[in-house]
Amino acid sequence: MAARRVRVLVDMDGVLADFEAGLLQGFRRRFPEEPHVPLEQRRGFLACEQYRALRSDLRDKVASVYEAPGFFLGLEPIPGAVEALREMHAMHDTDVFICTSPLLKYDHCVVEKYRWVERHLGPQFVERIILTRDKTVVLGDLLIDDKDTIQGQEENPSWEHILFTCCHNQHLALPPTRRRLLSWSDNWREIIDSKRGARPNSG
Ligand SMILES: [Mg+2]
Repeated sequence: MAARRVRVLVDMDGVLADFEAGLLQGFRRRFPEEPHVPLEQRRGFLACEQYRALRSDLRDKVASVYEAPGFFLGLEPIPGAVEALREMHAMHDTDVFICTSPLLKYDHCVVEKYRWVERHLGPQFVERIILTRDKTVVLGDLLIDDKDTIQGQEENPSWEHILFTCCHNQHLALPPTRRRLLSWSDNWREIIDSKRGARPNSG
C-alpha cells in the first residue's frame, strides 16, 4: 500500500534564513551608539516591539534595518537548513513548499526573498514559494515556523504547526500537544513520517 503523500510548508525567516542574527548585526553596524537586544534576551516574535519597549524611537530604527535594500538577500542560511530542504525535496511522497509572509513594506523584501531562494536552494525551489500574509488558508500537513502563534481567517488550519526554535521563542512552554523542532539537526524526518498514516488535521 502506498504511503500517503505529506505536504510540508516551511517558513523562511527564522527557519531557513537567519533573520534575527542579520537584524542584530545590521542594527549594531548602522546604530553603534544605540542599545541593542542580544539574541539570548530576545522575547516575542516581533523584534521591533521589543526595541520599542526598550526605547520608543528604537522601533523605527530597527525597522529601517530590515526594510533596507539588501537586507533579506544578505541573510545567512540557518545551519543545516539548505541540506535539510534538499533532502526533504528528494524524499518520496513528500512535497515541500516555502511558505513566507512578506513585509507590508514589500519593495525589497519580495524580490529579495525570491533571489535568496534561488541563490541558496536553486531554481527548483523558486517554483515552490508561497507568499502569503495568511498561512491559515494554505493547505498542508505540516507548517514548520518559528512564530509561536499563527492566526488568520481559517480557524482550523489543515496543517499541524511545528514550532521551530528561535531565540525569541525558546523560553516558551508549549502545551503537551504541540511539537517543536529544536534545529535542523533535530528529527524532522520523524515528524514528517508521523504524518504518513494520518489524515489532515488529526494531529
Ligand atoms: Mg519566521
